[in-house]
Amino acid sequence: MAKLLEGKPVAEKIKEELKKQVSAMPKPPVLASILVGDNAGAQAYVKSQKKTAEGLGIVYQLHSLGNETDEKSLIDFVNKLNADNSVNGIIIQMPLPAAIDYKNISRHISPGKDIEGMNPQNFGRIVFGQAQILPCTAAAVMELLKESGVDLYGKEVVVVGHSEIVGKPVTLLLLDKFATVTVCHIGTSKAGKLEEHVKKAEVLIVAVGRAGLIKGEWVKVGAIVIDVGINRVAERIVGDVEFEAAEKRASFITPVPGGVGPLTVTMLMRNLVEATKAQL
Ligand code: NAD
Repeated sequence: MAKLLEGKPVAEKIKEELKKQVSAMPKPPVLASILVGDNAGAQAYVKSQKKTAEGLGIVYQLHSLGNETDEKSLIDFVNKLNADNSVNGIIIQMPLPAAIDYKNISRHISPGKDIEGMNPQNFGRIVFGQAQILPCTAAAVMELLKESGVDLYGKEVVVVGHSEIVGKPVTLLLLDKFATVTVCHIGTSKAGKLEEHVKKAEVLIVAVGRAGLIKGEWVKVGAIVIDVGINRVAERIVGDVEFEAAEKRASFITPVPGGVGPLTVTMLMRNLVEATKAQL
């Protein structure tokens, strides 16, 4: 039976460290959060981010913009925050209204205040192994792998999902650790090859958003399984991996909820603290 890789205890340890760093600063760091429209999911994220930030002594400044906000006025707003010396970090809540392209907005956030790590300059640094700010979910995955104690050198790692926020940055970070990385995605599934790749994984990282995509019997005995997926199924939140069956074969597995999720917001705060230190 697998050991559970829970995010909360790891997050608590990191938060204790961050609290000390924040209290040693000449003034509390300020996180500016931009919420466009009234999406219920985004409002829930804001609430939990605010609670985490304030628990660490960070000032959480919420800027709510109306549904009618267009790309140009959002960019103008971001530029205002870029120029505001009292703001240390900027986050844009997702989802944005359909008319706004997040990729276009993220490159306007000043790299030094880009605490989501999505400005192309910060992202590009990952390629050169010189990252200062990592995309939060990818950073959370790497923290959980560290917690498992696995030595990634030469390990067969399979990443399922190749999004900009998880799969791609995680792949680059794993390469830096000299893991042998296979990246699977929708094309792999369509070619009927997902099972074959997943079965080889000594470390399996899944970030797709499809409940039960990874069958428990595909998990290699002794594998480490990090399930990033969040899916609502009949009033329950589940991941992308069939947990009950996978847990019997894996050595470590993240629960969903309670695995990657609780760490992601902590990584955001860590990025803010790092960004603030660099600005000081
Ligand atoms: P995305 O939609 O941007 O990307 C999905 C990826 O899955 C793509 O690479 C796509 O090719 C691949 N894919 C889709 N169908 C597939 C299939 N049948 N077989 C193989 N690959 C397939 O997703 P994302 O933003 O990276 O999010 C992925 C999941 O992770 C979602 O459930 C999301 O809610 C969750 N998530 C969790 C956290 C957290 O903090 N725990 C953070 C971010 C995202």
